[in-house]
Amino acid sequence: MEFLPIFLDVKEKPCLVVGGGEIAVRKITNLRRAGAAVRVVAPALAPAVGELLAAGEIAHEARQFRDEDLVGTLLVVAATDDRQVNHRIAELARTAGVPVNVVDQPDDCSFLMPSVIDRSPVVVAVSTGTASPVLARLLRTRLEAMIPAAYGRLAELCAAYRPRVKERFTQQRDRRRFWDRVLQGGVAERVFSGHLDEAQGAMERELEQDLPENTLGEVYLVGAGPGDADLLTFRALRLMQQADVVVYDRLVASSILNKVRRDAQRMYVGKERDNHVMRQTQINRLLVDLAKQGQRVLRLKGGDPFIFGRGGEEIDTLAEEQIPFQVVPGITAASGCASYTGIPLTHRDYAQSVTFVTGHLKDNTINLNWQQLAQPHQTVVFYMGLVGLPVIVDRLISHGVSPQMPVALIQQGTTHKQRVYSGTLSDIVARVQRDPPQPPTLVIVGEVVKLRERFNWFQTPLPAEQSAMAAIFPDG
Ligand code: SAH
Repeated sequence: MEFLPIFLDVKEKPCLVVGGGEIAVRKITNLRRAGAAVRVVAPALAPAVGELLAAGEIAHEARQFRDEDLVGTLLVVAATDDRQVNHRIAELARTAGVPVNVVDQPDDCSFLMPSVIDRSPVVVAVSTGTASPVLARLLRTRLEAMIPAAYGRLAELCAAYRPRVKERFTQQRDRRRFWDRVLQGGVAERVFSGHLDEAQGAMERELEQDLPENTLGEVYLVGAGPGDADLLTFRALRLMQQADVVVYDRLVASSILNKVRRDAQRMYVGKERDNHVMRQTQINRLLVDLAKQGQRVLRLKGGDPFIFGRGGEEIDTLAEEQIPFQVVPGITAASGCASYTGIPLTHRDYAQSVTFVTGHLKDNTINLNWQQLAQPHQTVVFYMGLVGLPVIVDRLISHGVSPQMPVALIQQGTTHKQRVYSGTLSDIVARVQRDPPQPPTLVIVGEVVKLRERFNWFQTPLPAEQSAMAAIFPDG
């Protein structure tokens, strides 16, 4: 993060705005909305600022800025039309330890003023760092549409009941369950439909009742897709936001993990090649144990849980122990990588079928039906095929596939680190040895790989764009 978002109490505190032109208006209005005591220092005021003065919203001193104006002020906004003056105010403020915002001079700012969605007491602030205020405003418009005005009233209702809820439920976990019920159930619905009295009645009833006994939890086996968080399903996202604990492994990108409810417990169970933090049987057991404690367990897996994901084994144990579970499909690496590299896996001119196989080495060999994989008019996708690539190439050629058969090896497909090595069976091994890719990688073999030259649409962003994107979407 380029800046730390915080919410500052400026109520009745002295805040200085230097400059009284049109560009100062928005800043002054924002400060006033939060109750600041705004003092404007400027030789003249634009009409809109004059109106604020007439309405008693601000104090005004009709003169140039003086260094001592900074004394005793909580923060300063420099909004004159003279860049030099603004810059000097910024330097003075920094020396004096006063937070400073300079309109349209991001380099001089020690704090930014975000775009705000005001549903007081709910306030959502959007910032793009110094990248693009216009984009921030655009995002704000989108969020405005998503957050009904009634959220403010709902938050007020929560505030009013907080002390009683705390008294009624002494355990934090019970309180959270209580609020989950209230905020996702009838109480919230009544607030949204404008029936505040009824909402209060429903709240009282909720407080009288005991929380339903929750002895058995449940498990969500969720496919997180190949890496790009945009490829999550709606259901995956919903379950990610209601889980109590998430059990994940290496393939799950951090941008996706960041979308899991903030206060959910996170458990890493590893699974790097030859470096398993936990054995599969231990993971199976862990899921059962967590669910038996009454937790909503999110088992988050890369790609699709049922494609080389051992999801079947995990739910087998759950089924045996009669733990409720659901399975959410994800986009498997083959689909994700194929789309993001422009390789239509079953383009009718070249392939009648596509086969997904594992290229995992066992005792230095790969036990596959090579005869079948060497047949023409098909596409073969190898998961876990990087280490065994020389064996794969060797077997395919010795079973009759042309050494000129196109191959693509895709590193970290669908992410901003995606890289594609395309070549042929005869040269791919040397290329990969010269310049080793970073796992995970996927290997696609077949004539369809050629189409990439025409259909390759996905460009990984340049480093500068990446950091701008990280500022806009800090969660990925
Ligand atoms: N269940 C997963 C696959 C797990 S096996 C799925 O459906 O995608 C792990 C293998 O998946 C890796 O060795 C690699 O071959 C492949 N893989 C997963 N994510 C990938 C990605 N983003 N890019 C390339 N390959 C990937």
